[in-house]
Amino acid sequence: MAQSVKGMRDLYGSELRAFRLVEDTARAAFARHGYEEIRTPILEYAEVFKRSVGESSDIVNKAMYAFKDRGDREVVMRPENTAAVVRALIEHKLLGSSDPRLLFYIGPMFRYERMQAGRYRQFWQIGAETFGIGSPESEAESLLLLFEILKGLGLTQLKLSLNSVGTPESRPAFYTAFRAFFQEREARFCEDCHRRIGENPLRVLDCKNEKCQAALEGHPVITDYLDDSSRAHHARLKELLAALAIPFEENPRLVRGLDYYTRTAFEVLSSDLGAQSALLGGGRYDGLVKQLGGPDTPAFGWAIGLDRLATVTQQVRGEVPANPPALLVPLGATAAMEAMKLVQQWWDQGLAVQLDTRGLALKKVLPSADRLGIGTVLLLGEGELAEGIITAKHLATGEQETWKLGEVPAKLACPEMPLHARHVRE
Ligand code: AMP
Repeated sequence: MAQSVKGMRDLYGSELRAFRLVEDTARAAFARHGYEEIRTPILEYAEVFKRSVGESSDIVNKAMYAFKDRGDREVVMRPENTAAVVRALIEHKLLGSSDPRLLFYIGPMFRYERMQAGRYRQFWQIGAETFGIGSPESEAESLLLLFEILKGLGLTQLKLSLNSVGTPESRPAFYTAFRAFFQEREARFCEDCHRRIGENPLRVLDCKNEKCQAALEGHPVITDYLDDSSRAHHARLKELLAALAIPFEENPRLVRGLDYYTRTAFEVLSSDLGAQSALLGGGRYDGLVKQLGGPDTPAFGWAIGLDRLATVTQQVRGEVPANPPALLVPLGATAAMEAMKLVQQWWDQGLAVQLDTRGLALKKVLPSADRLGIGTVLLLGEGELAEGIITAKHLATGEQETWKLGEVPAKLACPEMPLHARHVRE
């Protein structure tokens, strides 16, 4: 039997409905905040990520789905989308004016990860990016948007873990102090950290190895080494978050795995699942646009792991119901034709009704409708046709009523509202 590729899975049923609920909730929030969607291709030239995410990062080092295409060009299935969005903005000359750009994306990302629970090789991210504004206010706005989405889904046990990683100019002073600290206890650090301390010392701070984390006890804290402007920026952001009642915790070891962050770096953890897990991460990346060949442009953004958020959402709210529409069941050949004409009109009016075209006897249709979770079956037989009525059978209660044909649209609740919108409104 053919199977899906390891680490990649099919989405359907209740899990897909949870994905849709998350996506719709996010889209509504993006619309409220004036963010516009951008879609970039799955495939990019490898350069895009090597020059941005960083040659020394785990993603570029270990996790890229990279291969040569038939033209012998090195291409990559995008492991994240910020660099690709920046590539697109530069290519289409959408940056450089004083106008900001507020963008969002939703789509699959690809990383050749080691297999573990909740980690996939194709996973989904929802991201927001703000270009052209360097203020802490812009970060607070983006974080408010983020918390609106999470709270809109019913998540309450949220914690913002916050740090400032300074600027490329202010970092050398921290590196000097940190390397001295490292050297004093270097035997306690893993092999990867010995490589990291040379290439990118910040990475030592978020090493997953428990022994390294223990060896870091008492390490120099990067926020003590910030330049004045980054220090003021960080203080202002914290002031704004406090005023907006967004709970945060400073985490001096939070540096994020990508090379391009400057100043603010953060993650949001949820304990709604029991054990705390990172739902998303983000930060400021003022140097990235220039690094990829564009105009000097401040930028800030985040990416939510949609797979994880969909799981947490289901834990918090329960399974997202399918809510299939009423089922119209014609009984007999004459009724079949009339039912089609009738439902054609209803569909044109925007009514949601499923048409049963199987031509089965009632005693088979009803149990099948029940298994499919259908709430109401509309029966149209010769008798109903003659009288211009329909028999509505509510499967949960077994109750039955007759409606005039003209009344049906009004009787079916909120007919014009799409399913996902119904969930969001609840
Ligand atoms: P990152 O781009 O690594 O900062 O990841 C941002 C978020 O995406 C993480 O907090 C996770 O929720 C999610 N994520 C990253 N990698 C994976 C993966 N392999 N499978 C599922 N979710 C992931």
